[in-house]
Amino acid sequence: MADTTAAATSSVAKAVAEAQPQETKRSWGDEAGAEPDHAALTSDDKSVSALNLESLAIDETKKKANNFLDDPDDSNIKSVTVGDTMYTSAKTFEELNLSPDLLKGLYVEMKFERPSKIQAHSLPMILTPPYKHLIAQAQNGSGKTTCFILGMLSRVDPKLGAPQALCICPTRELAIQNMEVLKKMGKYTGITSECAIPMDSTNYIPVSQRAPVSAQVVIGTPGTINKWVTAKKLSMSYLKILVFDEADHMLAESGFKDDSLRIMKAINRSNPDCQVLLFSATFDDAVRAFVSKIVRDLFRGDYNQMFVNKEELSLESVKQYKVRCPDELAKIMVIKDRILELANKVGQTIIFVRTRNSASMLHKALTEYGYEVTTIQGALKQEDRDKIVKEFKDGLTQVLVSTDLLARGFDQSLVNLVVNFDLPVKHDLPSEPDCEVYLHRVGRAGRFGRKGAVFNLLCRDRDDMIMAKIEKHFNMEVTQVLSWTSDEDFVAALKKAGLL
Ligand code: AMP
Repeated sequence: MADTTAAATSSVAKAVAEAQPQETKRSWGDEAGAEPDHAALTSDDKSVSALNLESLAIDETKKKANNFLDDPDDSNIKSVTVGDTMYTSAKTFEELNLSPDLLKGLYVEMKFERPSKIQAHSLPMILTPPYKHLIAQAQNGSGKTTCFILGMLSRVDPKLGAPQALCICPTRELAIQNMEVLKKMGKYTGITSECAIPMDSTNYIPVSQRAPVSAQVVIGTPGTINKWVTAKKLSMSYLKILVFDEADHMLAESGFKDDSLRIMKAINRSNPDCQVLLFSATFDDAVRAFVSKIVRDLFRGDYNQMFVNKEELSLESVKQYKVRCPDELAKIMVIKDRILELANKVGQTIIFVRTRNSASMLHKALTEYGYEVTTIQGALKQEDRDKIVKEFKDGLTQVLVSTDLLARGFDQSLVNLVVNFDLPVKHDLPSEPDCEVYLHRVGRAGRFGRKGAVFNLLCRDRDDMIMAKIEKHFNMEVTQVLSWTSDEDFVAALKKAGLL
């Protein structure tokens, strides 16, 4: 591996070591410490201009051809529409009355040939006047980003130099990724955009001194967006479309509910006709009911819905395994001696851990054994997080240890191995699995229907119980790797997953 990676690895190791263990607080994706945007609400603002979005550009050589898109079957998509508007599923992008510039972006830049199933269903609902709200559940890798990015790009009036579309995401990584897609897809439209995320320390400007936002599309995280709105730097007066990515989390009690509601209320005060799109791979019934209620209560107009059947939120192309280990050290040995030895031949690996402390511990152990790994978790500085993501996306690093910060939405086609070093459990009820997070983690492997494998490492009775609950929830059986010490068993598992 390149020297630069080794240097980065050691600087990250230092950063991890320096990250003080923090009091456990409820915060999605990254336990034992604050999500950056919660911190950002109280910390000073930093300049967005410092973010080098270009450096995070999609690497074309690593993108798969269209036919790998993980498309659910049409029959598993359920749309619930209201009112008289008739919607016809769009077989081609031409049927959507998109501008020639947008079509060019889709064909030339994105290299898409036709809408995916969920795009075919949802885009007519998004793009047809009177622009009803949409609550949409769509699986990872099925093309949901395109639905809302196209929605935003096609609603913007290029002649009006004011924010007209706003997309709110739970993490800065997702905001950056969505911005990347927007810039690519909208390349020929001339539409301007800005990322509203907590910034790294360079080029710091207090929010009070920054210019008002004139970009037509703003994509960001809730804390920074709220801060800009409160400081009267982000006008809601011209907003036509508001998007929540990972909406279930954005509106859940344990997530960003308060921030999201504050933003919605601010929009509602100046613009109750704004179209709202809520997208997520998972919506449990309680969140679904709550989301419907706030859309109804806060905004004028009806909402349509689109759901993909639960069993279709696919775990299918990814083969899942459980490995019983006698103790914690054995879990590390399995990763080191079995999984990482084979992973090199397979692709990239993400190892999910539950807490920041677990992340630091595993990182230290693996680097001490001489493995090149990088680690991402919320206690790292923003610039380190960006760097680690970029190195991983560029394929400079092969193995990434992550808290659930990257569990959702992280789109990297070369990841085909996921290891659950810790099983995902509910924050407030650690004896219960967090099945949604499990689904999201599995979704990091086997993007666009590619093959992938997940290894769940278990070493306590409680792990067995949690694994059993996950199996029951998804009505599936996770195959056991018989011996944690057997190379042959792991080779066989990867062969069965189609990876060797
Ligand atoms: P998403 O579910 O939005 O994360 O998209 C998953 C991947 O599918 C992304 O890498 C997209 O570039 C790709 N994708 C989205 N829509 C299409 C399409 N219509 N044709 C081909 N690939 C697509």
